[in-house]
Amino acid sequence: MHGVLAELRATAATRPLWIWGAGNQGRGICSVLQGHGVPLAGFLDQAADRLAGRVMGLPVAEPSRVLNALDGVASSQRPFVVIASWFFEAEIAQRLRAAGLGEHDDFIGYSRLKPVDYSVDIVGVCNLKCLACPRASRAPSDGKLGMMSLETFRLVLDKILAESPFVGNLQLYQWGEPVLHPQLPEIVEHARSRGVLCAISSNLNADVDYARILSARPEWLRISTSGWGEGYEMTHARGRWPRFLEHLREVATLRRTLHPEMKIEVYYHLYKHSVGDSLARFQALCDELGLELHPIPAYLISLDDVLGYCEGRPLPEPARQAAEQLLVSLEDGLAAAYRERHRGCDVLRCVNINWDTSVSQCMLYYDSVGNTVAPSYLEIPLERIQALRHAADLCRRCTRYGLHQYCASYARMEPVSEAASA
Ligand code: SF4
Ligand code: SF4
Repeated sequence: MHGVLAELRATAATRPLWIWGAGNQGRGICSVLQGHGVPLAGFLDQAADRLAGRVMGLPVAEPSRVLNALDGVASSQRPFVVIASWFFEAEIAQRLRAAGLGEHDDFIGYSRLKPVDYSVDIVGVCNLKCLACPRASRAPSDGKLGMMSLETFRLVLDKILAESPFVGNLQLYQWGEPVLHPQLPEIVEHARSRGVLCAISSNLNADVDYARILSARPEWLRISTSGWGEGYEMTHARGRWPRFLEHLREVATLRRTLHPEMKIEVYYHLYKHSVGDSLARFQALCDELGLELHPIPAYLISLDDVLGYCEGRPLPEPARQAAEQLLVSLEDGLAAAYRERHRGCDVLRCVNINWDTSVSQCMLYYDSVGNTVAPSYLEIPLERIQALRHAADLCRRCTRYGLHQYCASYARMEPVSEAASA
């Protein structure tokens, strides 16, 4: 048994072991720990009230409920916490320390437990051309066309599990629309049969069999949107609002019957046009459908364009149009990222495997030229892949402007309450 697993099992024999984070990463860790017979007390999650009390058969508690009850508890009986958040690991660790818990003795960080995460971009196409996405300005022939077969996915998963025993969840998207894959249900089912839970993301514009997809039980679905009606169609270019709305209602209904525990996160991009009344109407819709709305300031998704801008090149026209609509401007986003440049790059921990099994240097860059470290993931050991990635020139250029913190900086901003009343 893996050394950390053995330690956790010994700890859980005498102390309540909680996983902080009931999202994709937390559920993946839960799957691995349960698969190895490690008893768990449950999940801690800020959104406990929205999670109907239980996830994967375990209770979900608001973190302060556990942290505020530590007085007088002997150290041998204190809760032990496994942090299951990639983006907010440092913030959660800080909160645990403030509550009097110590690293190693009382909690373990996500990066120590799971040094590598994976994204498998099983589909190399998308049906939309969102203004902020590089797909809006790149020709479809730019090496991004194709789909990973089920057979290849099986081989990829075999290698992932052989090299990274703590992987219990996989993201099946990066620059593609996974619901377009005709074998998505089989891929999700196969992963689940190996103890790996899948996260998918969708723009919900494709007319596909959502019942078949949800029946395969993906664990997490992110739905991306940006406004209401015409505003949505402007930034989610080529998207059709009525079709999106119809599929949103359909998926919400299907979840109730097919997979009630599946987490659905509506990832709502805040632009100038999507705040105020649009956001309020969308919130009301999510309340009606029982969906979790996650508003986040929109940003230019591809770091290729942002790095080009920093290095003095003009933004492609769609990205320029998107930048004009940003609620938090590109300049403000860059300044926030630059302030955080002392932080390390978490993205280096994520290995992005494209549909053709090539491995990206960085999942946040779209263009494959200069961003491919291995032509085939299947033929190169993980250790070698990571060594190549850690030595790449792209990272030097990127960190010079703090761009390794660019997306995370937007994710950390919380202008939501102001936006709602704008
Ligand atoms: S942002 Fe997502 S949905 Fe929009 S074009 Fe890019 S990949 Fe497609
Ligand atoms: S430093 Fe930049 S290019 Fe390198 S992995 Fe991090 S985000 Fe990507």
